[in-house]
Amino acid sequence: LAASAPEWLAHLNPPQREAVLTTEGPVLMLAGAGTGKTAALTHRLAHIVRERMAWPSEILCVTFTNKAAREMRERVAKLTGGALEGMPWLGTFHSICAKMLRRHAEIVGLQSNFTIIDTDDQLRLLKTLISENDIDEKRWPPRMLAGLIDSWKNRGLNPADLDVVDNESFDNGKGQQMYALYQERLKSLNACDFGDLLLHMLNIFRQHSDVLKSYQQRYKYILVDEYQDTNAVQYLWLRLLAQERKNICVVGDDDQSIYSWRGAEVANILRFEKDFPGAKVVKLEQNYRSTPQILAAASGLIAGNSQRLGKTLWTQLPEGQKVRVIGVWDAPEEARRVGEEIERLEREGLSLEQVAILVRAQYQTREFEDRFIQIGLNYRIIGGFRFYERAEIRDALAYLRVIAQPADDLAFERIYNQPKRGLGQKALQELHRKAVGGGMPFLRAAYHLAHGDELAPRARNAFGNLHDMLQNWSLMAETVTPADLLRTVLEESGYDAMLKADRSAEAAGRADNLVELARAMEEYETLGDFLEHVSLVMDSDRGDTDEKVTIMTMHAAKGLEFDHIFLPGWEEGVFPSQRSLDEGGLASLEEERRLAYVAITRARRKCTIMHAANRRIYGQWTSSIPSRFIEELPDEHIETETTMTGGKSLWQANWSESEDPFAHVSTSRPDRSSARGPGWQRALATGYDTKQTRVKESTRSAASFAAKPRTDVEMGARVFHEKFGYGEVIGQEGNKLEIDFEKAGTKRVIDSFVTLA
Ligand code: ATP
Ligand code: MG
Repeated sequence: LAASAPEWLAHLNPPQREAVLTTEGPVLMLAGAGTGKTAALTHRLAHIVRERMAWPSEILCVTFTNKAAREMRERVAKLTGGALEGMPWLGTFHSICAKMLRRHAEIVGLQSNFTIIDTDDQLRLLKTLISENDIDEKRWPPRMLAGLIDSWKNRGLNPADLDVVDNESFDNGKGQQMYALYQERLKSLNACDFGDLLLHMLNIFRQHSDVLKSYQQRYKYILVDEYQDTNAVQYLWLRLLAQERKNICVVGDDDQSIYSWRGAEVANILRFEKDFPGAKVVKLEQNYRSTPQILAAASGLIAGNSQRLGKTLWTQLPEGQKVRVIGVWDAPEEARRVGEEIERLEREGLSLEQVAILVRAQYQTREFEDRFIQIGLNYRIIGGFRFYERAEIRDALAYLRVIAQPADDLAFERIYNQPKRGLGQKALQELHRKAVGGGMPFLRAAYHLAHGDELAPRARNAFGNLHDMLQNWSLMAETVTPADLLRTVLEESGYDAMLKADRSAEAAGRADNLVELARAMEEYETLGDFLEHVSLVMDSDRGDTDEKVTIMTMHAAKGLEFDHIFLPGWEEGVFPSQRSLDEGGLASLEEERRLAYVAITRARRKCTIMHAANRRIYGQWTSSIPSRFIEELPDEHIETETTMTGGKSLWQANWSESEDPFAHVSTSRPDRSSARGPGWQRALATGYDTKQTRVKESTRSAASFAAKPRTDVEMGARVFHEKFGYGEVIGQEGNKLEIDFEKAGTKRVIDSFVTLA
């Protein structure tokens, strides 16, 4: 088969070609990072189209992110000579299901213009339901219910499908009822949440065999990338669709399964051969992405996991540089250091597009944003709703949502008094009463209130004006572009004026963001299209041409590659995350390790790992311990360095010279210039950053950085801890002390936080 491959596939290796050319029947491509799985899948798609085995509209292709879908679309267009007129069914599970659901919305009691609500709306809705049902919100917070409902939806469970254990997990048996109420409420709002997109479609397929049949017929070929991260509902949905023709090709890597917290089940990949007997299994072993050094470091790390299939990877690329591990003082220095390195790369002629900073948690990005803005380095943030999360953006979107879908009460509630129209709590209560009493959306209720006598004239007027404006804009929406509509809305609603009246720098930034939003909307013909894009797309970088450094989470980086990767914050509690450590299970730690594997294997040429000695967590400065993953990297493939010119040894020397190795938890920033010892003096003399702005309040040594256990505290010693007070040492393990505090009870603390009392 492979031998007779056409010319345009010649650059693929034999197993890749096999995966491309075996178009009939089930195929499982199981292989490590950078082995060309996605490349093979893309060629397979192009091959099917080129050979006219199916029209583009007869192929279902699932990618993990919208960005990946975009890239695949572009590549396929190239490979097929651009003849391809769109690929309507190429996208993420969510975007594909959203499109399907709009066609069949009435089956599940929605209209085709339903709104897709986000987490924020979801939480507000659940909060209302919780209080309406006299549930103690403190004990059973909305966030918890949201998490449960999401997990049920991820498993394909409707309220009626919950078992006793599921049901018991919220307010002793109220889970099912609340879930059902939530679904009903969504329906009355003509809305659904993210999880519903899949669940509704699964329900439709299960209950309406004619609909299922039509899709089974339509899709001659099904392709799925990143299969290891599908959850149950996605798996069930796919299995139904593929059952008829069985021309399904899935690709994945068990070592890159990093979404189990969102219900992904790596078992799906292992089950494939059972579900589709006779499936062809293709393994790829040659890595085309990373240098041997990077590959060996990543492979060495992932070898520490017990739960894996195990596989061989090799590469023909030149040796390359070792993975660098750099220790810095704190997060600002980390950002400064990365900024300097990137500026240097830029001077050497490297495109910023080839540089990415991958963080474990969203909050880590801010430090880099601040720094990069300061030095004028272009960057973009991908992988979160960051841009769309900003208050002014959400306000603008809420206006647009009400215009597009007048029954969108959640959106209406957000803007009814934004900017201020003198509508207070009383007006809102009346609005609720009217809407519930009359079984009508808020917008209509506002109209009735404007013409009734329940409210004072001022409030009546305000509601009347708002209603009329929204009605006008809705008419306008039919004739003007979405971007022009937004500009009109911002002006006529008084939103622009509100920002202008506010002279703070922040307000100016907000106005800029709104301008940016209008710019983003230019690309869309209809308001509906744009709103759909917003609810589905997570990256805010479309359509700009400047070269930029990418900042994103490790999770969002899956499937991508860059020449240079920076991995900051490799410290215990940051990465692996505190949560994974608290849960303590092997499974959660192994998932963190897979995440580390994903992160390192994004790098083509160079990978730099960083860890800071001090970090501010929840407003308090704490010393950090380097991540265990650093320790686990094979020595021969890494080189360590600290910003203290003398390298690691200097830190260690400093440890022994520092006669006073303790520190306090402090809300002011640790000041390295107050640290003692010749090591520090030397470091200071060699250009260590001693910004004047630092507050000299707390003493801090490098002790905790080296993570050496203290030898001066014995069992039974009386100690003092700034936060927990006095206590007695009852246990010691490494640099952690178990202390029985007089007031705070027994706690485990890092030894550098206590003083002998
Ligand atoms: P991941 O597991 O990270 O998703 P992957 O297995 O999907 O990785 P790809 O992204 O498809 O790997 O490929 C990695 C890199 O190798 C890409 O730059 C791709 O263009 C290149 N590549 C893939 N196959 C070949 C090949 N046969 N010859 C040369 N380069 C290749
Ligand atoms: Mg891939």
